[in-house]
Amino acid sequence: MELQGKTVLITGSSRGIGAAMALAFAEKGANIVLNSRRPIAMQQIVRIKAYGVDCIGVVGDVTKDAAAMIDSVLAHFGQLDVLVNNAGVTADKLMIRMSTADFEQTLQTNLVGTFNLIKQSLRPMFKQRAGCIINLASVVALTGNIGQANYAASKAGIIGLTKSVAREAALRQVRCNVLAPGMIDTAMTQVLSEKVKTQVITEIPLRRFGQPKEVAQAAIFLAENEYLTGQTLAIDGGMTMC
Ligand code: NDP
Repeated sequence: MELQGKTVLITGSSRGIGAAMALAFAEKGANIVLNSRRPIAMQQIVRIKAYGVDCIGVVGDVTKDAAAMIDSVLAHFGQLDVLVNNAGVTADKLMIRMSTADFEQTLQTNLVGTFNLIKQSLRPMFKQRAGCIINLASVVALTGNIGQANYAASKAGIIGLTKSVAREAALRQVRCNVLAPGMIDTAMTQVLSEKVKTQVITEIPLRRFGQPKEVAQAAIFLAENEYLTGQTLAIDGGMTMC
């Protein structure tokens, strides 16, 4: 897909991986819709517009505002070409201490939120007979992780959801793929203690955390390559190699 002049919605793009993706798509000439539950900072919008593209911020919670979010995108840009389901949360606890609410809330944002946005985006993409959906999972969807039963379940669900959507949407030239990052240096991992980080690095063949920009480069690849659908691309410094 040629990204120049296309419209890209990235959920959870006020910081971290989502913010890096917004810059990367803007650099390619795409118009950007930023999103988070809190209002987007004006400096972030100004930084993206410096690439000569249009950019708006849409406040919304992926668990309940998907329809309004897509309506705002279509009202402003008249089209939606790339949807990146990036909004995600963690609520780590050992299974033995995990409440049903801990489990359900993580599933609600990560998995149901992704479902909600895909559901609202498919109709306009089907009408266009073109579209690209990128869903953020995680390497723990492939491996499991201590203390992350809720998060791993939500991210594994995203892989099954993606493959099903990829099969349903392919005849209308709408593609759906997964990015599965490993340990990336963002607010989500900055909460880890130095001891845990040092331990984790020994499990990464490339011996470092990834940068948000490196995940963004992989998103651009998935968006541009029109013969890719139903795939899971791990961007993890070699952690999983599957
Ligand atoms: P951050 O915590 O840095 O950012 C998360 C973003 O999501 C924020 O903009 C946040 O803004 C937004 N958000 C959270 N909940 C909602 C919601 N219900 N509706 C809309 N926006 C929401 O996360 P990362 O950048 O680290 O992660 C991005 C994605 O990559 C996530 O899906 C994560 O699971 C995945 N990932 C990250 C890894 C890492 O190592 N960092 C590894 C593997 C996967 P606000 O709170 O204002 O709404």
